[in-house]
Amino acid sequence: MSSPLRKSLLSRARRVVIKVGSAVITSTHGLSKDVVEGIAADICRLVANRHQVLLVTSGAISSGLRKMGLTKKPKSVSQQQALAAIGQSILMMAYEEAFGQYGQKVAQVLITRDDLAHRRRYLNARNTLLTLLDWKIVPIINENDTVAVDEIKFGDNDNLSAMVANLTDADMLLCLTSTNGLYDKDPTLHKDARLIPLVQGLDRGVDQYASAVPGNLGTGGMASKVKAAQKVALAGVPTIIASGIKDGIIRRIFQGEEEGTLFLPRETPLCGRKHWIAFTKSCKGDIIIDEGASVAIVEKGKSLLPSGIREVSGRFSQGDAVNVLNPLRETIAIGMVNYHSGDIKKIMGAKSSEIEARLGFRHDDEVIHRDNLVLIKELEQGDEACRSRQ
Ligand code: GLU
Repeated sequence: MSSPLRKSLLSRARRVVIKVGSAVITSTHGLSKDVVEGIAADICRLVANRHQVLLVTSGAISSGLRKMGLTKKPKSVSQQQALAAIGQSILMMAYEEAFGQYGQKVAQVLITRDDLAHRRRYLNARNTLLTLLDWKIVPIINENDTVAVDEIKFGDNDNLSAMVANLTDADMLLCLTSTNGLYDKDPTLHKDARLIPLVQGLDRGVDQYASAVPGNLGTGGMASKVKAAQKVALAGVPTIIASGIKDGIIRRIFQGEEEGTLFLPRETPLCGRKHWIAFTKSCKGDIIIDEGASVAIVEKGKSLLPSGIREVSGRFSQGDAVNVLNPLRETIAIGMVNYHSGDIKKIMGAKSSEIEARLGFRHDDEVIHRDNLVLIKELEQGDEACRSRQ
């Protein structure tokens, strides 16, 4: 039987991101047709019940691996990228065919983190995905592995699925993996390992249970699934981590069966823009500020002005995200800067009225405007300042 809480979250989950891991859809013989067909059947049932579903799927590299007759994922990045190019079309063909049996149209969407780090491209990607959903098409999303290098990578599809959930204002993330959910010990090593059915989304206590060691084919292990669940919890979205190997798992979850681990969301969600700054953009440097500026930012909700800046480290451009550190070198905020790092060095310690004289131009009075500043304490508590989700 489903708990009333789970039931109510599921009944409100109209737009759902479903993430399928490599270990779920690939076996020793390659892509498992039965599993792909089962997933497609369940998703088509959801769509028929007026849900909107975005599928984030791994399996490009593992499919390429099997096609090339390899048994182990190579260490070389370019070989992994080549395998992804070989496998992505196999993956899409399998989904096209499986969804096609139900007359369900699908679309391939390949993205890199860099695509979402720029606000305009982020909003473009959002519009495309929302248009596809509007047209009742299931977007099938993967990282664009062939072109993504480390700096522009999501790293793993768990992270990608969290970004997609935020990008599309999804109501739920369902993460299908090769285990039944989060256990208090590694279930492959301990017979007495206990499944944890419910986690308060921001409970960092569960981090200790989640191994960062991936399986043979996947990338992030349970740790990256827990991190993804915590990220979406901040945006007010629940996650269920469950076994994608179990037959009809999606259908059973939506029928209310108590499967997997449910991560509860935070009640006051962080707005879309702040979530994007804190999680989708990656920090390119640090700005160290003085005590006065630190109090103004944390206690009084002020912007960061050049006068409070003591030090700048790293090279970053206007519009990049940076960590803001207090004099004790503790990160107190993440913010999006209005100036290039070199320019900030020239204006640090100065009054805003001196910016033009020092640089020969002036974008804004603030180095980071408060609307583009996410306090670390905001990530842990509520955020009443946000007015819109994106
Ligand atoms: N994008 C990779 C693939 O399709 C998977 C990344 C991951 O395992 O999270 O093979």
